[in-house]
Amino acid sequence: MTTDVFSAALQRLDMGAAHANAHSETILRLRSPKQFIEVSIPVRMDDGSLRIFTGYRCKYDDTRGPAKGGIRFHEDVTPAEVKALAFWMTFKCACVGIPFGGGKGGVIVEPRTLSTAELERLSRGYMRAIAFAVGTDIDVPAPDVNTGPMIMAWMSDEYSVLTGRRDPGIITGKPVAVGGSLGRDDATARGGYYCLKELEKQLGWDRENTPRPVAIQGFGNAGDHMARLLDRDARFRVVAVSDHHGGRFNPDGLDITRLADHKEKTHKMLPASDCGRGTREISNKDLLELECDVLVPAAIENVITADNAARVKAKVVLELANGPCTPEADAILWKNKVIIIPDILANAGGVTVSYFEWTQNKTGYYWDLLRVHDELRRKMAAEFAGVFELAKSRAIDMRTAAYAHALARLAPALESTGTSRNYAKE
Ligand code: NAD
Repeated sequence: MTTDVFSAALQRLDMGAAHANAHSETILRLRSPKQFIEVSIPVRMDDGSLRIFTGYRCKYDDTRGPAKGGIRFHEDVTPAEVKALAFWMTFKCACVGIPFGGGKGGVIVEPRTLSTAELERLSRGYMRAIAFAVGTDIDVPAPDVNTGPMIMAWMSDEYSVLTGRRDPGIITGKPVAVGGSLGRDDATARGGYYCLKELEKQLGWDRENTPRPVAIQGFGNAGDHMARLLDRDARFRVVAVSDHHGGRFNPDGLDITRLADHKEKTHKMLPASDCGRGTREISNKDLLELECDVLVPAAIENVITADNAARVKAKVVLELANGPCTPEADAILWKNKVIIIPDILANAGGVTVSYFEWTQNKTGYYWDLLRVHDELRRKMAAEFAGVFELAKSRAIDMRTAAYAHALARLAPALESTGTSRNYAKE
């Protein structure tokens, strides 16, 4: 039985290791983070009172390059979750071959309960607390759940106050005006979309004319952009979307532009009665079990489990969220021939464009949107092909193949300074 999200993440390491040429010491080293920091952040609230928030930053591994990973603001953040997310980042960066290790951060907070000024003080306070552990060539944070460009701008600004110099490469996901990259806003969804287009060719779907129904759980940064991309693609029809309150379902396809624009303006889902004929409300539980071809979990971890995996009817699960399927669910979906495009590949578009942003910050030369899209598409297509071929040749699921594919890059890096083989007595 899985104990926590980090233990579940480690199970994937063992599965991938069975199909990779990695020394046992490499696997041992990858079982625990290099550094894990807990900080307390005192914040003066608008009413004059003081609140202490708890934050974390984890540098899981930095052998292949500076650690890289987002900062999550959520009331359910735990050390195990931060470690799991940093572990996934390590494998994600290796899976898509970008020169970063893995990191992650989080603060236990329900951001909706804070005013904008309190949120700014918390963001700046968090950066002050972790500044000694991050840096352009050390560990580079980015946005995650409930953190976006303005929070990155506050943190980047705070870092420059502390160090006395502007160093835009300290953080990615910044507004474009202060060194952010064009195309970072929809990069996570776009990377997943490019993977889906590659799978479409492999399955022969591109030779058929009927649009494929898609259900998307989570209508935030990742889910909203995915819905918009699929809505513009005649081969797909988005039939359901949801946020944490619940969803909207229309078997003939939803008006995504209206739903997304309303959500952007009001932070609320458009009422089903205003969504057009045939639209009804749907619970998050029912959305996951809908009759559709592609299911896109784009919200939180552990939503497809041993309890509901057998009822998933989709042919493809595209994991935009990190860790939406438990290992028990993976086994059931594999038995039912459901193809999972795993998180460390499917949502790697975000960190890939973060890498482009960091590169642009370091060189001071900024790319146009066309170049960002083109380089992202080429990277995702190449890495998808590598994972897909490995899965096919070994008759394993794509997640195991993605871990083995990542280990093929991590192992030589970790073993470059020697293993017991080099030190054994002659
Ligand atoms: P977000 O905060 O912008 O959106 C999250 C969405 O999920 C919201 O619509 C929220 O209402 C919904 N949600 C929350 N709890 C839910 C629940 N219990 N059931 C259904 N919906 C729920 O966050 P995001 O940036 O879109 O991230 C979503 C997922 O994608 C996370 O797992 C994150 O780690 C992953 N991810 C995001 C990025 C990125 O660049 N944003 C990159 C890689 C991975």
